[in-house]
Amino acid sequence: MVRAQLATALVRTAARLSRMTGRGDGSVIGGRIGLAVEPRLLTVLARGREVALVSGTNGKTTTTRLLTAALGTLGPVASNSYGANMPTGHTTALAQSRNARHAVLEVDEHYLRTVLAETRPRVVALLNLSRDQLDRAMEVGMLADRWREVLGALREQADTPGAEPTRVVANCDDPLVTWAASAAPQVTWVAAGQRWQEDSWVCPQCGAHLKREGVDWACPGCDLRRPQPSWWLADDDTVAGPDGIRQPVTLQLPGRVNRANAVTALAAAALFGVRPADAAPRLAEVASIAGRYATVERDGRSIRLLLAKNPAGWLEAFDMVDRISTAGAAPPPVLLSINARVVDGLDTSWLYDVDYASLRGHRVLVTGDRRYDLAVRLEVNEVPFEVVDTFGEVLAAIPPGRLEVIANYTAFQDIRAELGRAN
Ligand SMILES: [Zn+2]
Repeated sequence: MVRAQLATALVRTAARLSRMTGRGDGSVIGGRIGLAVEPRLLTVLARGREVALVSGTNGKTTTTRLLTAALGTLGPVASNSYGANMPTGHTTALAQSRNARHAVLEVDEHYLRTVLAETRPRVVALLNLSRDQLDRAMEVGMLADRWREVLGALREQADTPGAEPTRVVANCDDPLVTWAASAAPQVTWVAAGQRWQEDSWVCPQCGAHLKREGVDWACPGCDLRRPQPSWWLADDDTVAGPDGIRQPVTLQLPGRVNRANAVTALAAAALFGVRPADAAPRLAEVASIAGRYATVERDGRSIRLLLAKNPAGWLEAFDMVDRISTAGAAPPPVLLSINARVVDGLDTSWLYDVDYASLRGHRVLVTGDRRYDLAVRLEVNEVPFEVVDTFGEVLAAIPPGRLEVIANYTAFQDIRAELGRAN
């Protein structure tokens, strides 16, 4: 215990020093030092708290933030809100909020097993699984297999007398998530949508070709099918839940995908005893997340920043642009920026898997390290575009008014750096 106290103090000091010296927010280095001193530190820090984990390929940072806001009705909440989503980041988050009884942790989908075992969460929220910038489609299936194994093991925990069972909140619109989560003893199904279906044509259980009809899906070869959700979006502004719940929810965050994230957050919060009516006003306060969705004013241009790291994320971002364009007379220009540095994934061939047709009607500009790859793709997709070399050129090329920016990770960071800190 003394060692854990020492390790906790080190985490906090290291994180503070890191921030003071401008080496980042310290959420990785602090945790790394603490875990070196006490490898069980995450377990120790999680003990006695009520923890929620949020995992999936897309939307986990946003959902973590929304759930943190919802649980805020119960008191202070520890959270790794800035995307440090591996055990080092979780350790730092808990060390820095020692008095918070609740914690909401965003978990990298490859670390679900470890973090589940160490934090013994009350709730695990699972959003979706699709190929990420670093993964191939095959690996998505393997990841679903691993999740299923981990979640199946919760049955043993549920059978242990006196142990508080972990409850799973899972997206029934995603066949891979459904298959993985259906191994768990207690699942709350949420209809959180699935715009990107390219990684789930095939049944993860038997390999047959899934049949889809509207939002419904089923396997013709086995018993896997879409479970009946107990939470869903009744319309654009209303979340439906069990026992006739109809909760109006107005978000500042754009797009259907974020409203779906809000449904997941409300379903998870309900398992902590938070009523949707109490949580909804808190969700409405969330405006941007580490610069994502932020609008920055520059030279009479109103620039909205959307981060999209993988094909599913790009489709979702197009959806956000679509909605914005319907509000005004002329659709705003859209800038697409793609880099292929190590953290982005060096292989950008997935660009060819995305359908860009919904951008027709917008003026489209492309930039970033891989602007010519993007240009070829848009040409094939018959979307007119202009290639620009720098963000400065973009600003010079467009008239005052709105600009939508969709960028992958380092391209997003580059643009944020040019604009100054957006948020
Ligand atoms: Zn099947």
